[in-house]
Amino acid sequence: MAVKTSKRNPARELLFGNLWEYDPAPETATPNIESRYRLFINGKHTDPKTKKYFDSISPRNAEKISEIALAGPADVNAAYEAAAAAFEKWRKVSGVERGKYLYRIARLLQDRAREFAVAETLDGGKPIVESRDFDVPMAAAHFFYHAGWADKLDYATPGRTLMPLGVVGQVIPWNFPLLMLAWKIAPALACGNTVVLKPAETTSITCMKFASILEDAGLPPGVVNFVTGASETGHALVNHPLAKKISFTGSTAVGKDIQRSLAGSGKCLTLELGGKAANIVFDDAAVDQAVEGIINGIFFNQGHVCCAGSRLLVQESIAAAVLSKLKIRLRSLRVGDPMDKNTDIGAINSQKQLEKITELVESGIAEGAEIHQPSCSLPDKGYYFPPTLFSGVTLSHRIAREEIFGPVLSIMTFRTPEEAVEKANNTPYGLSAGVWTDKGSLILKMSSELKAGVVWANTYNKFDPASPFGGFKESGFGREGGKQGLLEYAELV
Ligand code: NAD
Repeated sequence: MAVKTSKRNPARELLFGNLWEYDPAPETATPNIESRYRLFINGKHTDPKTKKYFDSISPRNAEKISEIALAGPADVNAAYEAAAAAFEKWRKVSGVERGKYLYRIARLLQDRAREFAVAETLDGGKPIVESRDFDVPMAAAHFFYHAGWADKLDYATPGRTLMPLGVVGQVIPWNFPLLMLAWKIAPALACGNTVVLKPAETTSITCMKFASILEDAGLPPGVVNFVTGASETGHALVNHPLAKKISFTGSTAVGKDIQRSLAGSGKCLTLELGGKAANIVFDDAAVDQAVEGIINGIFFNQGHVCCAGSRLLVQESIAAAVLSKLKIRLRSLRVGDPMDKNTDIGAINSQKQLEKITELVESGIAEGAEIHQPSCSLPDKGYYFPPTLFSGVTLSHRIAREEIFGPVLSIMTFRTPEEAVEKANNTPYGLSAGVWTDKGSLILKMSSELKAGVVWANTYNKFDPASPFGGFKESGFGREGGKQGLLEYAELV
């Protein structure tokens, strides 16, 4: 073991060389993935009227793991009719009883947590430790939290009565498939609505497995319906006349299209869209702690996170030291098989997303930023990208402006808090931000001046079902989580 120091470089590195390798630590639980998933409409698994299915590819090895029904407009219509019929009964179910259903769903998900974690990792590519320790427990926590609200709605808004909206249409992305489903379904049911939901086309499996949890919980048929497919199915879902509200999580481009197409329809709308968060480190911050927060902020879930801290703003006086520590930390990240419990960075969700990341990284090089990647070997099969830092980034670079949605961090510097705020807010997005400093007063100043729905202080990527989440500007509007998220699914009379 050698300790490397340098006068110009204050960071120290422990070099273990080839002294030892990690033993493989594969997760072995059975995911129970079926060879084919049909639609879930009115409590039944039904073949699509299109008679078409599409392949679900595991990004871990680029192999087909299942096939998924392609829902057409007639299927979407059947799902809405089932949800509308179910609404007439479900709205009369007492809050206490609705709460019991939600509670049962949460417990059943906990019972099958390992199975769901493995399915989520195989389907989406995220490391098993993240599916196991974050996605599945957090999804269950959202059902528990909203089970608690269901019988207390009369106390949520004193003097006003909270009424369900009716049938809500929901569309979710591929980065947190099960968790986004929980964010959408739990508050909708707690308020007495019924649901038609579409998962993303690359990650439909845990949604369709979740149908079996709804069945086991005895949820009445039609209260929750799942239609699978890609953009055309989503288009049919958001524009269906029976929808009283649309809740969409996904890209800003699609969110804008939806907003345009719903204008004048009278439907309620919530949009949870993209982000380009600034993670801001002041020179009085606990630097090692900040480095961990920066790493977590950008490499959690391969950077497929809407609130990823993808722009690092670091105070000029400590910029060299922070970059040096980040480069060292980068070398210790393990990239590879997401089913291995040692893996920090798993597979990129799809070939298409890998191409997008590659193209943006190439633009960073072409525009003059300096790239830093560790030398790590990537699996031969599947979709993988090494953790990447860019220093010398300017505000006009594409990698500083566009959402990369991958493990790529753009580093910029600032001198004063005012400059940090100006640079952080210089983006069309406004979803999240991070502030690292020893001074409470600076945290308060920054969090009131940053145009971001969530500002984390001396931490990053912390979530709780009781805490509302959502954006400003092109990151969308409306909140999910907390009382604020609950009220998005109700009319106050
Ligand atoms: P996407 O917009 O391509 O797709 C999202 C969903 O919309 C998918 O289910 C897709 O099939 C569907 N869809 C596509 N075209 C549609 C259309 N015309 N009408 C209706 N539905 C349509 O986004 P994505 O690539 O799946 O997800 C990544 C994006 O999601 C990123 O921009 C990320 O920031 C964002 N995101 C935001 C949040 C948040 O809370 N703000 C959370 C997670 C992800």
